[in-house]
Amino acid sequence: MQDQIRQIQERCKVAFAKAKELYGLDLSNVGIRFDLKGRAAGMACMRGVRGAPHFYMRFNRDMLTREAFEHQLNNTVPHEVAHIVCFMNPKLGRNHDSGWESICIALGGTGLTRHQEKVVMGKGTTYEYTTDRGHKVRIGDRHHKYVQGGGKLTCRKGKGSVNQFCSYSIVGMNGRTLANPIVRQAPNAPANIEAAVRSEQPNAEEMARRAVMVEELRRRQAVRVLTPVVAARPAATGESKAAISRRIMLAGYKAGKAYETIIAEMIAANDYDRQLARGTFKANAPKVGIPASFYS
Ligand SMILES: [Zn+2]
Repeated sequence: MQDQIRQIQERCKVAFAKAKELYGLDLSNVGIRFDLKGRAAGMACMRGVRGAPHFYMRFNRDMLTREAFEHQLNNTVPHEVAHIVCFMNPKLGRNHDSGWESICIALGGTGLTRHQEKVVMGKGTTYEYTTDRGHKVRIGDRHHKYVQGGGKLTCRKGKGSVNQFCSYSIVGMNGRTLANPIVRQAPNAPANIEAAVRSEQPNAEEMARRAVMVEELRRRQAVRVLTPVVAARPAATGESKAAISRRIMLAGYKAGKAYETIIAEMIAANDYDRQLARGTFKANAPKVGIPASFYS
């Protein structure tokens, strides 16, 4: 533990010297503490009255002795020092804005915030998908299964969405990052289509395999076609999600569709997860006159 503490202190001093050189700021009085608990690797703090503020950084004590230490040393230190630099000269940046980011990078960090950093799930497999807008997102087994089963996940902050046509890699296993990610290209990835088109004289086995793939694609696309038609309505009419759900429920029930089919349509139309779709169904069934025996 003492050795790790010393390394963090040294890394801070290097960043302090860099900050002095680049921004003319004296960070020699910035406190370095090792009393942080919980999930955050570090924290930058400012205390005291105007004119005589005191700056200090807190580092997670528990992470010092864990696998996360390397990360703490090389990423968290520049990250927190960059915050201190911004505290001292607010013109340079604020929070995690672009000013802060360039300082963090100049001090040897990644410029990423904790939430953007690469995490692997503690248990099971971690999948890294490329969204339809080209962003990388990581999900666990449960969501992976949902996506491969035809579900769609919408990511926050306009990062796009993930479906079974997206490429993915397996990047982690039971809390460990794989040295060599296992890459899975989507069936409709340009490279795969290209390869299929260019390969000559396929044998019967290959033809059968392709026929299955084409059939599978047809089936998936048939399901997909429903999505925009139903989803396009709320924007046009201002219809609430609950109202959309009731409409889908009633239409589906009258048409003799299965409960699961109706749930899938609700998920597609409203971006619900399964649990929310089921809950919405249950809450709205009495309102549209669907008997409890149908869904319980
Ligand atoms: Zn931060």
